[in-house]
Amino acid sequence: MTVVLDLVNNPRPRHPEKAHRPDSPVQPKKPDWIRVKVPVSAGYAETHALMRANGLHTVCEEAGCPNIGECWEKKHATFMIMGDTCTRACAFCNVKTGLPGALDPAEPAHVGEATAKLGLAHIVVTSVDRDDLADGGARHFAETIRAIRTHAPGTTIEVLTPDFLRKEGALEIVVEATPDVFNHNLETVPSRYLSVRPGARYFHSLRLLQRVKELDPAMFTKSGIMVGLGEERNEILQVMDDLRSADVDFLTIGQYLQPTRKHHEVVRFMPPEEFEALKTIAYAKGFLMVSASPLTRSSHHAGEDFARLKAARAAAK
Ligand code: SF4
Repeated sequence: MTVVLDLVNNPRPRHPEKAHRPDSPVQPKKPDWIRVKVPVSAGYAETHALMRANGLHTVCEEAGCPNIGECWEKKHATFMIMGDTCTRACAFCNVKTGLPGALDPAEPAHVGEATAKLGLAHIVVTSVDRDDLADGGARHFAETIRAIRTHAPGTTIEVLTPDFLRKEGALEIVVEATPDVFNHNLETVPSRYLSVRPGARYFHSLRLLQRVKELDPAMFTKSGIMVGLGEERNEILQVMDDLRSADVDFLTIGQYLQPTRKHHEVVRFMPPEEFEALKTIAYAKGFLMVSASPLTRSSHHAGEDFARLKAARAAAK
């Protein structure tokens, strides 16, 4: 008998499109400033149990986020909606890739219920890329925002969306649902897009952020990049200028870490003092809020940062 696919001994690779690529250079030893807590606390276990009981996915787990021990201990998790399989194949990301299944119509309500159970003041909802859907998943995002408002009316909502590339009208659907913060990450500088984010277009992402502000000037906008992917310092400064031209309020900058040898190499670990210098420059360029450190991730401390963001806007008036 011929075994065509041995799913027991050879389960489907997590990233089939990367399986035959040569290995990237091994990640250099992490410097001391990257060390993180092992996730063992009771709060972590409770958050984990709640996610499994509701059949929910989190980007914290799927992307192998280094902050999971700290965040989950405080019951702060980032929900990842529309399944665990992404239709893009970015070179930095550890989320499973392939053809996703159908949307779960009960998912928005489950996210709303879990938000209420976690008792969160601020929730971050992201998703896989769903290029297979006519609206890129925009309606599902909008339904999830509404379900959270129903189940947890006091919770402020931050969405971290894909780029909805070539999905006419999708962005408008999400903005109409009025999340408090609209986040879309540029991820890297334009010169690195082809190797880091090949399915995306830098100016499309930038325009998306600008369009959010045009549609709803009161909505907070946020974007982030990773460093350590081979970008030049002057390119980071140019990205800051581009984001300010798009009237983006909040910038995050964090260190890229390599999920596997099939992913993009870590070209460099940026030391904390360089993050601090970037933060100073970004504030000088007019961002209301800047988070820049080796372990900064878009959703890290999102609740506290949202409170500071609101205060910064009020003070600037
Ligand atoms: S930083 Fe964001 S993705 Fe990482 S564990 Fe915290 S909430 Fe999850």
